[in-house]
Amino acid sequence: MTIQRNILLNPGPATTTDSVKLAQVVPDICPREAEFQAVMQEIRQDLVKIVHGDPDIYTSVPFCGSGTICIDVCLNSLLPEGKKILVINNGAYSTRAVEVCRYYNLPHIDLTFPFEQPPALDVVKDTLSQNPDIAIVYTTHNETGTGLLNPIREIGAIAHEFGATFIVDTTSTYAMRPINVHNDNIDFCMASAQKGLMSMTGLSFIIGKTDLIKASSGYPKRAYYCNLFMQYDFFEKTGEMHFTPPVQTIYATQQALKEYFEEGENQKWARHTRTFEAIQKGLAELGFKNVIKHEWQAGLVACVYYPDDENWDFEKIHDYCYERGFTIYPGKISGTDTFRLCALGAIDEADIHNFFDVFKDALLHYQVTIPIKYNHSGGDRL
Ligand SMILES: *Cc1c(COP(=O)(O)O)cnc(C)c1O
Repeated sequence: MTIQRNILLNPGPATTTDSVKLAQVVPDICPREAEFQAVMQEIRQDLVKIVHGDPDIYTSVPFCGSGTICIDVCLNSLLPEGKKILVINNGAYSTRAVEVCRYYNLPHIDLTFPFEQPPALDVVKDTLSQNPDIAIVYTTHNETGTGLLNPIREIGAIAHEFGATFIVDTTSTYAMRPINVHNDNIDFCMASAQKGLMSMTGLSFIIGKTDLIKASSGYPKRAYYCNLFMQYDFFEKTGEMHFTPPVQTIYATQQALKEYFEEGENQKWARHTRTFEAIQKGLAELGFKNVIKHEWQAGLVACVYYPDDENWDFEKIHDYCYERGFTIYPGKISGTDTFRLCALGAIDEADIHNFFDVFKDALLHYQVTIPIKYNHSGGDRL
């Protein structure tokens, strides 16, 4: 069987290998069978291994859903009665966490910072010292809307200094940028199978400290399907997901994990890095400018300003590339027109070179001036 290979430069789902796609084609099986439980068990252990968690301290809890389910589950499940959440908010994904807090009426502080730079750690510290009832500090590792990298190790150390639990949304770094939950001061992190793992959509997971999950059994229950302790407890008692798991995605993920360990943590990160640098080089040659300074980028998402050119039409450029097997993606900053090119997935430098051939043709076709014109002086080039 030959499957058309599309190069996805959107921030997930990512381009996958054919072996991962084909791993979904299995004999029909009821997920309550022991054979399937063994697959689940192996996957749960591997998910902890990727972030170097000691299995006596950390566990993983998979859910059926997209990555946002993990934000929802962590926030609604891990807050004790009478305590508060501190969300360090410098981007669209942390804003999503604030929205979760609002929907559940969870007491929280929305500590906002400019989206184009790392947060001021002294302000984080002051907020914690002025609010001794903060039980959770929450941040996003790679703010996928802009590609900004947040200093999680430092934030985690501050959270722990004040006795708070540190939750990080690592959805767009997990299994790409190396993470060590011990060194990075992470109590809980999360991801979904279709991003760094290069598997299919529908499976997401939280990796966290087992004793903190157990302690949460007595916290207020604010959700049913999305309660962390309930899902964990069911896994421990039965080896199964509480409700129907995404069976085919789980088989794909088993294969994706095998390929992850075969490629190796450092080799994989090196591949994403050279893919990202090829994106940066291609953009710089055309004259595009980044929203985030190179030194603050997580090295996975390039977010660039639209040109100030009357012939630039993102939709048309997108369609031109899409018809030729390349997907580019709009930005996620309100009030600023940007688009994104991402280095996730089973792609490499050569795919980026092929992409820029097509992208440049698209610009020429629609008579967008090269080098790109800007009327403002902001932004950064490689
Ligand atoms: C992709 C992503 C999510 C999850 O988004 P879904 O659309 O629910 O898959 C959450 N956080 C970050 C940082 C992400 O990049």
